[in-house]
Amino acid sequence: MSELRRSHVALLTALAAMLAVSVLSSLYLLLVTEPAVVRYTNLARDARLMHEAMLDQETGLRGWVATDEETFLEPYLDGHASVLLTSRSLVAATREDATLGPRVDRTVSAREAWQVWADDVVLGRTRLSSLTTGATVSVLLEGKTLFDAYRASYDATTGTIVAERDRALDAQRLALVVSMAAAVLTVAGAGAFAARRRRRLVRAVVQPVAEVLTTIDALRGGDLDARAPRTGLSELDAMGEALGHLAADLRYAGELAAAREERLELLADRLASVVMIAREVSGSTSVRYVAESVASAAAALLEAPTALWVRSDDGVLRAASRSTDEHGVVPPGDVPVPEAVATCAADARWVLADGGRAHPLLLGGRVVGVLHVAGEVAEADADSVDVLEALLSTAAAALESARLHSTAREQADHDALTQLPNRRRLEGDLAVEWERSCRYDRPLSVLMVDLDHFKRLNDEHGHLAGDAVLHAVAEALARGLRSTDTAYRFGGEELVVLLRETDAAHAGPIAERVRAAIADVVVPEVAARVTASIGLAQRTPDMLEASDMLEAADAALYTAKRSGRDRVAVAEPTPAF
Ligand code: GH3
Ligand code: MG
Ligand code: MG
Repeated sequence: MSELRRSHVALLTALAAMLAVSVLSSLYLLLVTEPAVVRYTNLARDARLMHEAMLDQETGLRGWVATDEETFLEPYLDGHASVLLTSRSLVAATREDATLGPRVDRTVSAREAWQVWADDVVLGRTRLSSLTTGATVSVLLEGKTLFDAYRASYDATTGTIVAERDRALDAQRLALVVSMAAAVLTVAGAGAFAARRRRRLVRAVVQPVAEVLTTIDALRGGDLDARAPRTGLSELDAMGEALGHLAADLRYAGELAAAREERLELLADRLASVVMIAREVSGSTSVRYVAESVASAAAALLEAPTALWVRSDDGVLRAASRSTDEHGVVPPGDVPVPEAVATCAADARWVLADGGRAHPLLLGGRVVGVLHVAGEVAEADADSVDVLEALLSTAAAALESARLHSTAREQADHDALTQLPNRRRLEGDLAVEWERSCRYDRPLSVLMVDLDHFKRLNDEHGHLAGDAVLHAVAEALARGLRSTDTAYRFGGEELVVLLRETDAAHAGPIAERVRAAIADVVVPEVAARVTASIGLAQRTPDMLEASDMLEAADAALYTAKRSGRDRVAVAEPTPAF
């Protein structure tokens, strides 16, 4: 823009100079040359009028002299007044003129000399008729000499006036030419400057502006790398720089928005997965399933290995799940609780440790579990931690619900004294096994175990001692069984063992092993030997229901009792009809 301004100033200066020349030459024309021309023209006219009047006088005088007719004196007399007037006017007009003044004075003096001569002749003081011819000739010669002198002076004066007028006219013409030339030059200069200015405008402004506009279009089109080239015009370069800053700001804002969008998407994904996991685990009755789901979700969320510690019924924190992958492995029960986990459980707050951090699972102000996260704390962003907290608050309720549920079911299905599954559980399991055994024709056996003389033992050692014996017998029984066999407390001091996929032939040794194991039970408070009688029965085709097999075992037990106790009796097969 400054270039444009400079160009503009130069143009105006040139135009002003041309205009000044034009005005000055016009003023010179008006104030100097024009008055000079007018003055010299007027002087020439006055001189001519005076001379014409002189000629009229001289002609009239000559006619009068020749004819002596008074009529010829009329032009003389008329010319006399006119000559007087014009000669005065001439003298007055040239009084200040150093060149013309003396000349006019000489001409007027010459005229007056002739006039004096002529007036003398006319007034008759020297009447020619009275003179001799010689005297007349002499007088006339004198007049001729005087007139010639006047004429010579007049010619010189008018020559000077005409020369001066011509010079004034020349100067006028010159001033006119200069004025016109200045005007023409002004117009031509203005045109040239306008054309040049337009070219410079195009080169200096329009092209750079077009480039800036192209840059703006590119930026609007999404090309944030577009930059306006340097133009050399400070204003446009400043605009280009501002555009560059704007583009950089837009890019930064765009990157921020993209990052925010990406983060929000990630957050939404994580929240969706947390909601899904929360929905899945909220109805679960398995502590292990809840723990594994939560631990693996937390591991995926934080991209770090996690371990979930759950508070058991006895108040001890036990590892329920560990997740370095989707299917974490539960650490062995003897793994000590890490310090961060213990501190977190004690303080019910998020705890940082060198090896990671621990988040409490709180329910009603109680710590029901702790999530231990390995890895660098810095890796976890605030959003992830928020999502994790949401997950853990849901997990705490689900975990506690599953734990309570399994405890309740455990209590409902188990006998509190012996910790063995109870009769209710037996009925359920037996129904399932009976069904399968019948459907696939697989062997199935039961042992009915009854402690011998238990009433007496109670009587002799007390009920508590009896309880201790029952507990010890149950332990010995469960210890000696295969993993596919299950022992139940049937009621009182009667126990039942369910032997899956086992016929009577294979059940016999097992029954004998059970009997021996019970016989080996030693309870400190009880000095007497504890024995049991066992009735064994297998499923036979004649049995219609599971209870038939139990009744058969009971019958065999009765046989064992009658046979002397501390022994195994096998149910007799029902005789065929
Ligand atoms: P037998 O050899 O014929 O079986 O004699 P027994 O004394 O064992 O006779 P019975 O089976 O009729 O007696 C069962 C006794 O077991 C009765 C009851 O006092 C005792 N008993 C049942 N349940 C418990 C229990 O939970 N604790 C204790 N201490 N005793 C129990
Ligand atoms: Mg009994
Ligand atoms: Mg008994």
